Amino acid sequence: MQEFRNFYDLTMDELGALFAADGKEKFRAQQLFKWVYDKKVTDFEQMSNLSKTFRADLPGRFIFEMPRKVSELKSVDGTRKFLFDVGDGMTVESVLIPNDERMTLCVSSEVGCNMACRFCFTGKQKLKKRLTAGQIVGQFIQANESLAKDGLRITNIVFMGMGEPLDNPEAVFGAIEILCNDFGINFSRRKITVSTSGIVPLMHMITDAGVRLAVSLNASNDEIRDFVMPINKKWNLTELLDACSKHAKESGDRVTFEYVLLKGVTDSVEQAREVWKLVRHIPCKINIIPFNEHPSSGFERPADETVRRFQNELIRLGAHVLLRKTMGRDIFAACGQLTSVYEGRPETMTV
Ligand code: SAH
Ligand code: SF4
Repeated sequence: MQEFRNFYDLTMDELGALFAADGKEKFRAQQLFKWVYDKKVTDFEQMSNLSKTFRADLPGRFIFEMPRKVSELKSVDGTRKFLFDVGDGMTVESVLIPNDERMTLCVSSEVGCNMACRFCFTGKQKLKKRLTAGQIVGQFIQANESLAKDGLRITNIVFMGMGEPLDNPEAVFGAIEILCNDFGINFSRRKITVSTSGIVPLMHMITDAGVRLAVSLNASNDEIRDFVMPINKKWNLTELLDACSKHAKESGDRVTFEYVLLKGVTDSVEQAREVWKLVRHIPCKINIIPFNEHPSSGFERPADETVRRFQNELIRLGAHVLLRKTMGRDIFAACGQLTSVYEGRPETMTV
């Protein structure tokens, strides 16, 4: 008996290869992508340009399975948060963030995360599950459907939800291939950003996929970064920043550095200067994120004044700096606050 494949897990090349192995034409994959992702038809009977014999074979081979949407919350600031069931009693969250003309979807790639960054709520639980490509594509399709009801659509995608994308590269880059396929959703690669904590040997995959790179820098020297992000002990700042330079050169694009401000740990003016020295030779922008508090993290959010001083020092030095507004706090959708019902959100979480 042939095993069912989830259609949403397959890139067009993988689908074409399956057909080719059966002696069928590869262009069938293009036709199917058009039906499913462009016309949103999943009933093979309705796919009128496919021959009857070919069509008849398909229901025995493919299923269409997306993570079930468990809930959808809307924040007073327009942010929406979705909770998706990814099986085995586990869930992930995706967040839609409106910003000027943009509507950015922040997707999750894993349940839990093995990188164990000290300040991160997701990192508090070890990796429980790597999502499949279809579970990532499914977050996009369902969030977009929800927006469509209000006449809106997703304009940007960031892999900045739960999990480390480069710890699950097959699914992440498979999902990107599916989302960007011109016969289907045809999402622009320049509108997709993959954020990594710094798995250096795999960072070229981001360049190769033609998407944008974000790096969680979060410290101004190796000593502090070793402490807040243990991955730094494997690949240090020199190696990380070399990989960033390489990406910028090859892609002609700026790198985004994310920098979480932790009170008394990463927020001094001196550290702002150190950060500038690290990144000044790389075409980049720096995204400052004041820490979003969660209980027993051991860290605090700096005062607004400290945040401003840090930001102003970087601007004075010539950096391109963005202060990330905290969105969706009332629905626990801010950076580092995403979780799954699986381990339960602490009742005392600050909003
Ligand atoms: N694993 C990837 C992507 C997900 S984390 C990565 O680390 O890059 C997305 C961003 O949220 C990272 O830049 C991380 O530093 C930041 N972050 C995590 N917890 C946070 C918190 N509690 N407050 C503010 N930002 C946080
Ligand atoms: Fe994982 Fe990113 Fe959180 Fe670090 S910051 S634990 S890499 S999700």
